[in-house]
Amino acid sequence: MAGFSDDINALNVTSLTVCDSEEDGVWLQVKYEVIESIPATLPYDYLRPENINSLIKLIRDELVDRFARGGVTLRCSEPCPLCGSPCRAAAGHTTDPSEDKQRHDCDHQPSGLFGTYDYNTRQLVSDSCSTNILGNYTFPFTSIRDQRPYSQFGICFPTWKQPPPLTTNANEVGQYIFYHYQNELAQYHKCEPCTNVPSSFNRSLDELEQKQKNVIAGITSE
Ligand SMILES: [Zn+2]
Ligand SMILES: [Zn+2]
Repeated sequence: MAGFSDDINALNVTSLTVCDSEEDGVWLQVKYEVIESIPATLPYDYLRPENINSLIKLIRDELVDRFARGGVTLRCSEPCPLCGSPCRAAAGHTTDPSEDKQRHDCDHQPSGLFGTYDYNTRQLVSDSCSTNILGNYTFPFTSIRDQRPYSQFGICFPTWKQPPPLTTNANEVGQYIFYHYQNELAQYHKCEPCTNVPSSFNRSLDELEQKQKNVIAGITSE
């Protein structure tokens, strides 16, 4: 996602409102405009895997272009340097006059999704930046020997907010993926699968969908 966040930050937007406050009709309009941005006459084999990336780029370009014209506000999406979870602040927030609002922030996800593994077992790690603070764990900073406690996250990465030491600060979709795709993740990161994934990560897709609907409806904030 780094390329996407670079595109967004390059827009250098200074006045923003978060997308949660947009009216429902705006989202339908975005959907139609994205669909319209896809060429009407595609070769019959266009949706082959090798073409998917260019299609994703086309859709992202349309979203960024729409954003530049003052449409729906996108999220920043800068990935957390330790777990890779995307920043959920409004795009362009790094230029906000408030120093606190300039800092990136996210719901941190199981760091094994980003390839973090236990040096002894080589198993992917289920803890997030938040729960690593509760466990008094460390991370390699400038080198493998330079181990820093997760409680110093905000000092080591001053452009980011310090993660709260809470189990409730969690990217639940990331947890779902970590629970269900251990073998694929281990193969991708060339590590061993995590053998103690918390069962609490296994939410139903219906529950996750309902939570997203509540956010969109303004019942919950994030
Ligand atoms: Zn993180
Ligand atoms: Zn950010």
